[in-house]
Amino acid sequence: MSYDTDLLIVGGGPGGLATALHARRQGLSVIVADPRESPIDKACGEGLMPGGLAELIALDVDPAGMPFYGIAYISENRRAEARFRSGPGRGVRRTTLHAALAARAKEQDTEWIRTRVTGVVQDAQGVTAAGVRAKWLVAADGLHSTVRRTVGITAKAGIPRRYGVRWHYRVPVWSEFVEVHWSRWGEAYVTPVEPDLVGVAILSRQRPDLAWFPWLAQHLDGAQRGRARGCGPLRQVVSRRVAGRVLLVGDAAGYEDALTGEGISLAVKQAAAAVRAIVDDRPASYEAAWHRVTRNYRWLTRGLVLASTPALTRRAIVPASALLPSVFERAVNILAH
Ligand SMILES: Cc1cc2nc3c(=O)[nH]c(=O)nc-3n(C[C@H](O)[C@H](O)[C@H](O)COP(=O)(O)OP(=O)(O)OC[C@H]3O[C@@H](n4cnc5c(N)ncnc54)[C@H](O)[C@@H]3O)c2cc1C
Repeated sequence: MSYDTDLLIVGGGPGGLATALHARRQGLSVIVADPRESPIDKACGEGLMPGGLAELIALDVDPAGMPFYGIAYISENRRAEARFRSGPGRGVRRTTLHAALAARAKEQDTEWIRTRVTGVVQDAQGVTAAGVRAKWLVAADGLHSTVRRTVGITAKAGIPRRYGVRWHYRVPVWSEFVEVHWSRWGEAYVTPVEPDLVGVAILSRQRPDLAWFPWLAQHLDGAQRGRARGCGPLRQVVSRRVAGRVLLVGDAAGYEDALTGEGISLAVKQAAAAVRAIVDDRPASYEAAWHRVTRNYRWLTRGLVLASTPALTRRAIVPASALLPSVFERAVNILAH
């Protein structure tokens, strides 16, 4: 049986490239297929939680950015802050992160082919896609994964249907926290990414409007604004993560919401688990590993999204976080890992 590569990775975002790096460490040959050229941008709040940052550094990926020391929840008249216990996270522009991941993958002899995968054929010995025959395929092709659909794994958009849009504003950084500003209609979270650049991501069920956040709108008034990038619906309920020799990693494997800002960290951790399952020749074991890696995120993020859906409980989130600082700090630190 001849193969072009041990592992074909469809999607060269953070999930795909972290998978490539883990696979190379295990001595697997790797081809990554993505129609876009590096550095790839995407709608993202761009905050790397301390745990995810540590995983990236362990892969020798250490992108430039701005440290942040915790999370602050802010409404019109209340503020709650929780500091990370395990050192800072880092705000990193997606293009900077992607360039760092892609450079490291190249150094590690990962091949990149510019193509969009539209179909996958597999048998007991291997998988073929985009003309490449591989022993294994990892699909890291994002929220609306084509590979997932092609291999018959079902996914549906969950409720509430929320969307995310991100801009950059050229303005001096004013906080050492990632700030989450809450309004009746959505949340705006502000991440420092350069000394004079912040990312602002608005998450909502409606078309976003900075005017929902009067303090923020005033503070950013007149600042140069970059182009908008959006995506959604954010919640994708995926029935399973493994089909034969195909494993799903990152957003393709299922997503709750961007409210707790952990997608990249989770994608990197899932990458390690998927490669472990492949090396052990036990693909089915990845399903349980995925549930383990994502458990806290799924419960806490889903809980927060549901609690913040009715107007009454939504109004209580920031005051409750301020009144119960130890609970808020605990939740933030569970998610930080
Ligand atoms: C508004 C918003 C804010 C967020 N904020 C944060 C945050 O602050 N911190 C954080 O950690 N996470 C955040 N996230 C989540 C984070 O952006 C994602 O979880 C992360 O990008 C997932 O990486 P991925 O590699 O799985 O997918 P993606 O980054 O989506 O990469 C998928 C790749 O697959 C490629 N692709 C797609 N289809 C095909 C195909 N058919 N063939 C080949 N290639 C294909 C695409 O070109 C892309 O390069 C946020 C998300 C949103 C929407």
